[in-house]
Amino acid sequence: MRFSRKAIILGALAIGVVCASAQPVVIKTSVILDGKGQILRNKNIVVEGNRIVRISEGNAKATYDLTGFTVTPGWIDTHVHFAQHFGADGRAIGGEGAGGESPEIRALQAAAGAYATLQGGFTTIQSLGAEVDGVTRDMINGGRIPGPRVITSLRAIYKETGTPEQIRAFVRKAKADGADVIKIFATASIRDGGAQTMSDDQIRAACGEAAALGLRAVSHAHASSGARASILAGCTAIEHGALLDDATVKLMAERGTYFDPNFLVWHNYLDNKPKFLGIGNYTNEGFAYMEKAVPQMAEVLKRAIAHRVKIVLGTDAVAGAHGRNAEESVYRVRDGGQAPMDAIVSATSVAAESLRLGDKIGTVAPGMEADLVAVEGDPLKDITAVRQVRFVMKSGKVYRQ
Ligand SMILES: [Zn+2]
Repeated sequence: MRFSRKAIILGALAIGVVCASAQPVVIKTSVILDGKGQILRNKNIVVEGNRIVRISEGNAKATYDLTGFTVTPGWIDTHVHFAQHFGADGRAIGGEGAGGESPEIRALQAAAGAYATLQGGFTTIQSLGAEVDGVTRDMINGGRIPGPRVITSLRAIYKETGTPEQIRAFVRKAKADGADVIKIFATASIRDGGAQTMSDDQIRAACGEAAALGLRAVSHAHASSGARASILAGCTAIEHGALLDDATVKLMAERGTYFDPNFLVWHNYLDNKPKFLGIGNYTNEGFAYMEKAVPQMAEVLKRAIAHRVKIVLGTDAVAGAHGRNAEESVYRVRDGGQAPMDAIVSATSVAAESLRLGDKIGTVAPGMEADLVAVEGDPLKDITAVRQVRFVMKSGKVYRQ
């Protein structure tokens, strides 16, 4: 069999294309914070496809030169509501049908929130949650629209969800509908005082059924009683926790429950007060509760650090906060006394472990997803460097440079 000259040239070009696409991407760095507390200096991160294949030394030709920046794993926010946004009139709108918006607008707003979050250095988010998260997750994770990897509860369980048996059925339905995690409201919102709302039996039903199905369950809990019942029921993370006493903080440490204290959410509400005031429990009284919660939260975080609780990064980002998620690290260091390296580890490997993705994301190491962020400056000296995002790669694809 003979090949024409044209066929040989086309064949060679095709091989060339294949070889080009298989070429490893070499990212030259001067400082890497690996996500587990180590600092790597003057290394090359070698990426093939969506994964990091090696961390090497030497003067390989760089595809991306990030020397002079601080490189970390892509950040992970374990608590967002990326569909919530400000509507055309500038007022806050939730994820579900509020404000008379069409489903199309809500879906596009969710995509916009996700995109802003990715540009802010976050390559994975857990949304707790809205129904629109599901389709947004599938579009992003399918590579059709840009955004961070999305994990979502789709919906949440409240005391009104029903009897323990009804709650178990709710959990099964959520899983069947594609929820990745179960979210419960064990206590009231801080704007309503934060006291326990779900009964211990309801909490046990929700977190027990989730565990039986292999799902994690995270619990919104301010009051110690609601948090305690959640921890004992096997919920995997406590969200917020502004009113936790020392015994509950210790119990989290003993049981290995992850803790996600949030500051950005209240600062964001206070900074954008006119856009929320008058909607639901966003009353003047509700705002007074939030103002009071900020120093309470800082005090709880300090105790959680002292008791070596596993602290993850989560922001509870709502309208006005998407893309500014990294401010949470600034508040935690500045107000909560967290060491800057620990704040980075919270946002990377510990957050990844809390999502049961610790073997895939959250660390710069061979075999991990190529999720990388580079910031200008040194966040270990000045945590506000996390505001200076200059490069974002998710699964080997560059989204910001
Ligand atoms: Zn929330």
